[in-house]
Amino acid sequence: GEIRIGLGSCCVASGSEEIRGEVESVVNESGLRVNLKHVGCVGMCHQVPLVEVVPNEGEPTLYAKVKPEDVKNIVESHFEAPGFFTKTKNKLLHLVEDIQTDRNWDGIERYEISMREKPVASFLGKQIPIATEYRGMINPLDINEYKKRGGFTALKKVIESMSPDEVIREVKDSGIRGRGGAGFPTGIKWELVKKQKNDTKYLICNGDEGDPGAFMDRMLLESYPYRVIEGILIAAFAAEISHGYLYIRAEYPLAVKRIREALKICKENNLLGENILGTDFGFELMIYEGAGAFVCGEESALMASIEGKRGFPRIRPPFPAESGLWGFPTLVNNTETFAQISYILREGSEKFSSIGVGKSTGTKVFALAGKVARGGLIEVPMGISIKQVIDEIGGGIANGRKFKAVQIGGPSGGCIPAEHADIPINYESLSEMGAMMGSGGLVVLDDTDCMVDIARYFLSFTQEESCGKCTFCRVGTKRMLDILDNITKGKGKQGDIEDLEKLAEWTKKGSLCGLGKTAPNPVLSTLKYFRDEYEAHINGVC
Ligand code: SF4
Repeated sequence: GEIRIGLGSCCVASGSEEIRGEVESVVNESGLRVNLKHVGCVGMCHQVPLVEVVPNEGEPTLYAKVKPEDVKNIVESHFEAPGFFTKTKNKLLHLVEDIQTDRNWDGIERYEISMREKPVASFLGKQIPIATEYRGMINPLDINEYKKRGGFTALKKVIESMSPDEVIREVKDSGIRGRGGAGFPTGIKWELVKKQKNDTKYLICNGDEGDPGAFMDRMLLESYPYRVIEGILIAAFAAEISHGYLYIRAEYPLAVKRIREALKICKENNLLGENILGTDFGFELMIYEGAGAFVCGEESALMASIEGKRGFPRIRPPFPAESGLWGFPTLVNNTETFAQISYILREGSEKFSSIGVGKSTGTKVFALAGKVARGGLIEVPMGISIKQVIDEIGGGIANGRKFKAVQIGGPSGGCIPAEHADIPINYESLSEMGAMMGSGGLVVLDDTDCMVDIARYFLSFTQEESCGKCTFCRVGTKRMLDILDNITKGKGKQGDIEDLEKLAEWTKKGSLCGLGKTAPNPVLSTLKYFRDEYEAHINGVC
């Protein structure tokens, strides 16, 4: 049998290290012969700490919100051991009811079967794990286990039997677009870099996630380090790059630690360095820790930061594909994009593109947070509706409140009201609604939330994080924030809404980078759908 303990950041923050210690001592004291395994994030952040018991025969059982005092009962109820004198059969605690059948999937095939057999709405039911394949089942740093479950087969296939152009064709055919927010087609970007005639080229994995409410990159780096590294290696082979950086913010110490360890293990296994897997392909990958400026998520600021300069965005073109790090062609992709690549090359572009809608293929990882009953890290097919995510995965609104809106795409995104929650989640529909995919923050709001407060909160974040280079971003957001402060303090006046609209337009037009160009989005989208709340504040009726 096996006992799995989730050790992602959310789990650790809620005490899973203590649970691990308790399980270890119960197992050691009893003389029980069981495999104790540390696993990555399951995504059920609303249920942590999690302990899963997998018997040699029969169904696994997942326990949620486990306390140290529960551990002995849990272990004793599943296993027989000489040390268990006070056996308490079937004294199961905090069992997650809706999880058992769905929990059996260990890949997309079995997930589909499981869905047919049990069309029950559950946290995992509507999800498709690609970037998060084998979530909660494997030890993030056990390279043999990753290999046993198909890990590095895509890389092997690519470097042993495909040309860079064939790899790029496959990635283009999959339809995958950058998961960092802008949605640029990944295959085209790779092709642009490959075409550059330069002996020196760089690759950067952007793991500088800084949006409030978003933790997708952190979880992928912590729980799936080899999947991210495999995607990077495939991209490096396709675009003919020999050196790369993993840019991870220093506030993610567990992610940095796991990636550092994973890189060391990859080196020992001939998966990094010269002559990878005995071929001519070689690649060096280094970690660069970001110091926590939100603007460094913008690729030109990120590159300046690696170069040792202040994280200032610069005018594009030239784009990084032509002139990036130290002026050399540079391929920059988001962590999640890399995490989806090995699946595409292993399973084929057709299988990937069969998921999703229109020009948005595959899956997207979201951090589901806010007033939803079951928050966490989710991976859903593109095209799923916001309503399905909230009701079927999130279990509806917490505490019986009413669903009001969802803030999607973080501070660059916008609010979508409940009456439009049927729209499918894809790049096009979201921007038509005045929001954007962003990197994947999904904050659910209920009828107790004031939309002016929400807009003020996101604008205060971008205002604080503005690098100050452009006047409209530096001063425009400040002026907008002053107006919002006044409105929320009951000091609003007639004309404030019009001023906000004017400033928003100027800030969008007069800003150099995405931060300033999108900073007014939360204000504009709340004005579009909840103008009455602004008016009520100004007129003193709330
Ligand atoms: Fe800096 Fe804002 Fe200008 Fe971007 S838009 S370069 S964050 S001042």
